[in-house]
Amino acid sequence: MAKPIKNIIDEYNKLCDRVKSYSDSYYYEDTPKVSDAEFDILFDQLKSIEDKYPEIIREDSPTQVVASPIPDTSQKVASPLPEVSKRFAPLVHRVAMLSLQKVSTTEEFIEFDKRVKNLLEKSDDIEYLTEPKLDGLAVELVYENGTFMRGSTRGDGTVGEDITANLKTIKNIPLKLSDKTAKLYPLLEVRGEVIMKLSEFEKLNKKLVSEEIAPLANPRNGAAGSLRQLDATITASRPLLFYAYGISDTTLPKLTTQQKVIEFLSNENFLINDLIYMGESAHEVEVIFDKLEKKRPELDYEIDGMVIKVNSFEEQALLGQIARAPRWAVAWKFAAEEAETILEDVEFSVGRTGVITPVANFRPVKVGGVMVSNASLHNEDELQNLDVRIGDTVVIKRAGDVIPKVIRVVKEKRTKSSKIIKFPTTCPSCGEHIYRPEEEAAYRCVNSSCPAQLEGRIFHFASKGGFDIVGLGDKLARQLIDEKIILDPSDLFYLTKEILLPLERMAEKKADNLLAELERSKTTSLPKIIYALGIIGVGESVAVLLAEEFKSFEKLQSATLEALNEINGIGPNIAQNIVEFLSSESNQKMLQKMKDAGVLFEDYINKNKSDSLKNKIFVITGTLSKPRNYYKNLILENGGKVSSSVSAKTSYLLAGEDAGSKLEKANKLSVQVITVDELITLIS
Ligand code: NAD
Repeated sequence: MAKPIKNIIDEYNKLCDRVKSYSDSYYYEDTPKVSDAEFDILFDQLKSIEDKYPEIIREDSPTQVVASPIPDTSQKVASPLPEVSKRFAPLVHRVAMLSLQKVSTTEEFIEFDKRVKNLLEKSDDIEYLTEPKLDGLAVELVYENGTFMRGSTRGDGTVGEDITANLKTIKNIPLKLSDKTAKLYPLLEVRGEVIMKLSEFEKLNKKLVSEEIAPLANPRNGAAGSLRQLDATITASRPLLFYAYGISDTTLPKLTTQQKVIEFLSNENFLINDLIYMGESAHEVEVIFDKLEKKRPELDYEIDGMVIKVNSFEEQALLGQIARAPRWAVAWKFAAEEAETILEDVEFSVGRTGVITPVANFRPVKVGGVMVSNASLHNEDELQNLDVRIGDTVVIKRAGDVIPKVIRVVKEKRTKSSKIIKFPTTCPSCGEHIYRPEEEAAYRCVNSSCPAQLEGRIFHFASKGGFDIVGLGDKLARQLIDEKIILDPSDLFYLTKEILLPLERMAEKKADNLLAELERSKTTSLPKIIYALGIIGVGESVAVLLAEEFKSFEKLQSATLEALNEINGIGPNIAQNIVEFLSSESNQKMLQKMKDAGVLFEDYINKNKSDSLKNKIFVITGTLSKPRNYYKNLILENGGKVSSSVSAKTSYLLAGEDAGSKLEKANKLSVQVITVDELITLIS
């Protein structure tokens, strides 16, 4: 092998020191300096240099050790409150607490499975126990003759920190085990993770902020920081939980598999995670992994992957370990939910109600397994809170199917060329004056015929919930606005073939189809017409409420503010918006034009197929056999109402597959949960 040149050794040493310093901040100060995703990338870079030049590997490289030895900081001055311990007594682990090998793709996991089979000289499927990889702090609890004696952190794997007093304050850690266990296992070392639930973390942070104490960075560091307090009374005040997932000694009588250990720990009143499953083959493990990844956003605690352990302890012993991790287990990590990228530009978009929204355009980056390149920055306050500039390195977060969000600026990486973002003083679409209404975070454009607003209004008007006009693409709509053919949505009904054909990319057939769609859409239902108008705050459910209450559009038009205010489910702001919209001269003209063009403002009663769901409020969740809108319409057509969130007022939760937090809430509130078949029965 060629001798590594000096440059490579220098580069290696620099990277090694950098990863080591991040690792120390993470494990011993509970203040990560970089995101886990960035840490993992640097760690992999270090590994790939070492794979190429094994002769330069340093003994203290983070790839070779579980963590650096615990620093001796006894000479340092204690930090100000909240006081994180600078010196816990060392506690030696009888059996080393190791790290885990990692995989991040199916192919890599299959490789792991192959390696296991090869080492065991087995061709049959391996039995694996799969456990969520809890993101907290690993600890060991030592029980002597059934009594909890001492406990420690993982430390460098060989020596941990004695945090016995702090662990004793965690209420769900059993202090005594059963007599039978005390006799059978006079020395028992239980391992597991101390975590802080997400809901508790948020509550705690709110409290800390109200007391003018710096909030915690994330639940993992919240748990680790709370547990490593010198003053155990602070730990006692923190909402911590201990999940047990193993024992150190795998040669104890009766406990011959990981599954048996989990059952045993549960019987001894340790908290066990309820998402632990047996995978009878690598394929089954893959299926379990996919399910867990889907479930992740609903969990009230953080997990960053799944730990897969060979179930049989006999096989585990045959497999043994490598430098810092066992060969019989692997952590299959989820695609990173956070990633760093560079903010390249901020655009200001104008919505249909005139609200101006800053949108971040950043260098495309993979987050949560999906490439993203832009995210809303919401409003001026958000820009200020983030203190973000063009050219900044920003952290993007995307959990599950949640839309991407810029959560933080990496200030240390800010360069001199970064540019301050100025919020516009005039509308970016029409150049008119903009204003920020009192108590609102958003700026609005004053010009109701602003092209960007008009475009938004037309899309809303033609959307599925409104007139449902298929074939009106965004390019065509923009052309119609630019050429001043359409000045308000009602002009759509005055389009003719003569107007359409000269337009760019327009063909005879396309024009015919669009005109046929427009003709068809003139006969629609009253709630859809009300929704299509785009009155601020009037979504599909409110539109149904209004149609039910007034039965005809004429009656709605003459409704007073008081009458609107009396309707259950309509607040004073929406009532005010409705009155203002309907009394505006230009809107009245638009409505008249719609009527003249042949739009049927039919009475609501005629549209209802039945009243069988009258006074019943439904919430829809999960994956159903048909699109949600189909069931929504079915409920509305039969007199029911549809709401977006579960509350005590909800009559039924229509739940499909993979229903998540809504199902949990419905169960908590004893709301009846029904299937599609049961909905059909209710209707018939
Ligand atoms: P690891 O990924 O090697 O996994 C081992 C740990 O998994 C155990 O110590 C235990 O705490 C945990 N675990 C959770 N559930 C478990 C279960 N059911 N069974 C067994 N173990 C379980 O852990 P590590 O070496 O402590 O951490 C490596 C990770 O930490 C990196 O991938 C990185 O994301 C993060 N890290 C981040 C920084 C940073 O600066 N942001 C620094 C260091 C490490």
